[in-house]
Amino acid sequence: MAPATDDDLAALAALRAEVEACTLCELHATRTKAVPGEGDPASDLMFVGEAPGYHEDQQGRPFVGQAGKLLEQLLASIGLTREQVFIANVLKSRPPNNRDPRPEEIAACQPYLWRQIELIKPKVICTLGNHATKLLTGDPAGITRVHGRPQATAISGHSLYLYPIFHPAAALYTPAMLTTLKEDFLRLPELLAHAAPQAGAAAPPAAERPSWRPPAARPAPAEPGPSLEQPGPLADTVPAAPAGAAGDAPEVTRPEAADAPPAKPEQLGLF
Ligand code: URA
Repeated sequence: MAPATDDDLAALAALRAEVEACTLCELHATRTKAVPGEGDPASDLMFVGEAPGYHEDQQGRPFVGQAGKLLEQLLASIGLTREQVFIANVLKSRPPNNRDPRPEEIAACQPYLWRQIELIKPKVICTLGNHATKLLTGDPAGITRVHGRPQATAISGHSLYLYPIFHPAAALYTPAMLTTLKEDFLRLPELLAHAAPQAGAAAPPAAERPSWRPPAARPAPAEPGPSLEQPGPLADTVPAAPAGAAGDAPEVTRPEAADAPPAKPEQLGLF
């Protein structure tokens, strides 16, 4: 991992200030605090969730509620802390009552995310759940179909892998999803080693994509588009979606929006 340059750090700080003052969509009127994202600006590993929930909105920090506790446990399972990765969201402001992000909100907010990726230059981006996965892959294929399968790509000329996994908030309520999330997560070290080889080793292949641009420029195929997945040593080791999982996972219900109180992570039998 290359250290962030002073210019990159200054640009990230400016971006943070821009997000905190943003009024590009109506969510600015109802948010308590914007949630720009946080973590190691030079990390090889970035996580992209959906949108801030209640606790994130209160604190101005991503993944600090129940889903965040689970994310921290998952990180611990591979020997990492949240300070060692960068965590961001598709939307930087909380949708009221944790409703789904609207297309116009995603359109307004996404340049911030693309810019973060451009500055942080992660080797692997874990997309958490449907919204982040569909936005960053540019493919309408849902998370149930694509989870656990790295997709080589390039963003602004920077080669990286997208690694879609289930959203921790969804896994809090669905034991089978939690099992799959844990399995997918345990493959991250292998993917990181593959994506960020030691100096002198070959760089991973990347399917070239144009620099970041608004989604309107992307055609939305009726059928899932061709996979960006690259053949290679890792592809052989990565499992396909489980049989019978042809449908899409339900959209995430973030814990504080649910009727039932969220399960505490320590009650989940995790690790
Ligand atoms: N869910 C998200 O998608 N993002 C957060 O920051 C918290 C919960």
